[in-house]
Amino acid sequence: MASVKLTDVKKVYDNNVTAVHDFNLDIKDKEFIVFVGPSGCGKSTTLRMVAGLEDISGGTVEIDGVVVSDLQPKDRAISMVFEKYALYPHMTVYDNIAFSLRLKKVPEDEVFERVTNAAQVLGITDYLTRKPRALSGGQRQRVAIGRAMVRNAKVFLMDEPLSNLDAKLRNQMRAEIILLRQKLDTTFIYVTHDQTEAMTLGDRIVIMRDGFIEQVGTPQEVFETPVNLFVAGFIGSPQMNFLKAKLVKSGDQYQVSILGVNIPLNPDQNAALLAKGIQDQDITLGVRPEHTAVCFDSQANAIPCTINVNEMMGSELHLHLSSAHNDRIIVRLPTMDLTHDQRAQLSYGNTLYITFPAKAMHLFDPKSERSLIYG
Ligand code: ADP
Repeated sequence: MASVKLTDVKKVYDNNVTAVHDFNLDIKDKEFIVFVGPSGCGKSTTLRMVAGLEDISGGTVEIDGVVVSDLQPKDRAISMVFEKYALYPHMTVYDNIAFSLRLKKVPEDEVFERVTNAAQVLGITDYLTRKPRALSGGQRQRVAIGRAMVRNAKVFLMDEPLSNLDAKLRNQMRAEIILLRQKLDTTFIYVTHDQTEAMTLGDRIVIMRDGFIEQVGTPQEVFETPVNLFVAGFIGSPQMNFLKAKLVKSGDQYQVSILGVNIPLNPDQNAALLAKGIQDQDITLGVRPEHTAVCFDSQANAIPCTINVNEMMGSELHLHLSSAHNDRIIVRLPTMDLTHDQRAQLSYGNTLYITFPAKAMHLFDPKSERSLIYG
């Protein structure tokens, strides 16, 4: 069991690429932390610095209060599972999992106990005598996790462990990692580019871009109170809609004005802006597709939009719309509730109307891209 602390951690590669800028994070004992962000944002580099596989250009990494910068990976009490989980093809599953223990000259009876325990937790007991080629992708991934588990590490590091698997298996393994986490009771740092994986696995998520941390928070916090446009757009699928709008203050009440529709802020939003002394300004209004309602007829406070694309997803339709401001908007419609006539109206070029409540609105400054409320 261990805490991990990164203080002003920095990585500059030989080619002068600064992959990680002053990374600060306190990871609590037994916490499941996910680093998420687009490819190249510095997730793997940060993880590899914790593991000791990459030198640190500045700052410190502590595991359980001990600075580990000068320790070899094997002396850091960490275990790592990679995207490419190269198993030894000529060895059985048992021998693959036992390999690192035998290198360390762990007595065979203890090897047996640790390997069979890990196999039981991972549900691969029946495959221990098989060779890797006789296993499915998911089973191989479990063997790779088993190999990391037997080392009794204080910190479990996982770098995109599921990205080699097909979508169905990935969902299944994601659920298994949640179960594994409950059984292992260890500190986890998990790297992924997939926001769904981050949201479902993490106690807290670290959202990164270009080597910087953009926001750290629980899945609920980063979803409900994104601090900037990047986080708002990265977390959530389909992605949050962004619309050009104006913030207008009359007396002590703010409202958002968009294409002739005026939406007063709710008391909490209003109080937050008042406290910051914000004046009238252009804004980028963010509204999630799932918070955007659709009506088929014109009504007060509804914004007219043109249908561009109608995607049938099974239980719901994703409609891609554009407003008179040329903003692109996605809405979700449950197919079950649609009448025959309504379905007929959902074709290219037709007009629909969207509405959303004040509490669904996220307000961003178009220049700084920061949230006016949470930024
Ligand atoms: P991620 O894991 O988020 O995809 P990485 O940590 O692998 O990102 O990479 C971060 C940045 O560092 C990228 O710009 C990448 O090109 C660069 N980088 C990674 N490894 C090296 C290396 N060994 N030498 C030089 N640049 C590297």
